[in-house]
Amino acid sequence: MVEGTSRIVGPVILLGPPGAGKGTQSKRVEQHYHIPQVSTGDILRQNVKADTVLGHVAKEIMARGQLVPDELVNPMVAERVREPDCDHGFILDGFPRTAAQAGWLDAFLEHEFFDNLQPHHGLLIVIQLAVDYNELLLRLTGRRSCPTCGRIYNVHLQPPKVDELCDLDGSRLIIRPDDREDVIRERLNAYAQLTQPVADYYRSTGRLKSVNGDLPVDQVTPQIFCLIDNTL
Ligand code: AMP
Repeated sequence: MVEGTSRIVGPVILLGPPGAGKGTQSKRVEQHYHIPQVSTGDILRQNVKADTVLGHVAKEIMARGQLVPDELVNPMVAERVREPDCDHGFILDGFPRTAAQAGWLDAFLEHEFFDNLQPHHGLLIVIQLAVDYNELLLRLTGRRSCPTCGRIYNVHLQPPKVDELCDLDGSRLIIRPDDREDVIRERLNAYAQLTQPVADYYRSTGRLKSVNGDLPVDQVTPQIFCLIDNTL
């Protein structure tokens, strides 16, 4: 494993249900490979916070644990990955979340990123984090995040050193509004119905790699790095 490699990577797609550890692992990939994490959930939350037109529409949908329509999310992703920091690769966290988004992404990457690179399918790395349902519930109900630096904690599994405060900057940790139990169930339902077919789509085209996301965070990370290194 090369620490802080600057080779061209990906794009990398991290798939998995809410609570699988996509956010935590994406941040580690971002640091190790120097490619930005593109989290559609984070971008939508920023829009809600800034009260943009998109944020205004997305707010209620997100509060119900449902998916924001593709017509809004796809252009948002296009705009983000066209930024220059994505030129050497990026890691998608929370996208694609429907089979239609996956089809859109293939077409988009084909046109905008893979024009001169063959064979392009080898360059797209799709990694699924597979996690047991009860473990997901435990992770989601215990999840806290830092509003300042975005670091994620879990009161059961990965508590901060000082109760409710971020280890890095001391900010008071927050619970996401969609991490309430009723909303969590809705989000897991949306995953089973709409996002599981995305994994099937990549599996059927031979591009899906799977990692056991039930393992402790520090054991999952090297497996992800290994899969990425083997594709480079
Ligand atoms: P996340 O932070 O990835 O769990 O996303 C939080 C919420 O943002 C989801 O429950 C959806 O309401 C919305 N969202 C995030 N990514 C997408 C996406 N790719 N498509 C539709 N809605 C999304």
